[in-house]
Amino acid sequence: MDCLFCKIISGEVPAEVVREGERTLAFRDINPQAPVHVLVIPKDHHPDFAALAADPELLAEVAAETGRVAEEEGVAGSGYRVVFNTGSGAGQTVFHAHAHVLGGRGLNWPPG
Ligand code: AMP
Ligand code: ZN
Repeated sequence: MDCLFCKIISGEVPAEVVREGERTLAFRDINPQAPVHVLVIPKDHHPDFAALAADPELLAEVAAETGRVAEEEGVAGSGYRVVFNTGSGAGQTVFHAHAHVLGGRGLNWPPG
């Protein structure tokens, strides 16, 4: 399968990894939208959030990792956002489920 994030998991494509779990990987976004912008992905390929949510245990692992990333990156206290863009209409461009962890600046609501 020609999936960019599967290639990051296999090491075929390099990434700046910040955390690795048994079933998850967290790495810095190549085009950061905030001072802290980390992607947390399941190692199993799921095309989007809905598919990942069909495996609640794995979704919970991804969610737990987002919290650990926020702690380690120093944004847990100041506030951060966890986003799953789901579908091209919502801006999803890589169809391997991923949580964006964004922080380190003020984040407006509603998002664009
Ligand atoms: P989305 O648009 O929600 O699907 O998010 C995909 C994210 O992947 C974007 O924020 C991209 O900047 C990021 N991205 C694309 N290629 C890479 C890469 N090689 N390493 C790290 N992040 C990437
Ligand atoms: Zn994949």
